[in-house]
Amino acid sequence: MTECIFCKIVQGQIPCQKIYEDDELLAFHDIHPAAPVHFMIIPKKHVDSLSQCQAEDQALLGKMLLQAPRLAQQTGLQQGFRTVINTGRGGGQEVFHLHVHILGGGVLPPLQTNK
Ligand code: AMP
Ligand code: ZN
Repeated sequence: MTECIFCKIVQGQIPCQKIYEDDELLAFHDIHPAAPVHFMIIPKKHVDSLSQCQAEDQALLGKMLLQAPRLAQQTGLQQGFRTVINTGRGGGQEVFHLHVHILGGGVLPPLQTNK
């Protein structure tokens, strides 16, 4: 039994607001949106984070990124969007199943500086 919350979503044990699915990927809205539109694209196979990806994951990573503009278009983000991949504790990652955040709606504020 996996304890990974995103694996449970993939397996249908936890509901999600799905926006896209194919044999390798799932995209769903973030439960705590940080922007007017906030969803994420995840691989169905469990990978802890970007740091754990291997050469064999190259096509999967490309597929995830190529879905981003397509799904952004579908969810009304014609003016653009932000992609974020938090990696490891230092990167602020909280769910250790690889995911790409897509955020948008209006004009997003700049990234915080260290000032
Ligand atoms: P990260 O900090 O990059 O690991 O992001 C994890 C994200 O997963 C956070 O933005 C959470 O709001 C989101 N999240 C956690 N549980 C769920 C869930 N059950 N459904 C949708 N999003 C979730
Ligand atoms: Zn998982």
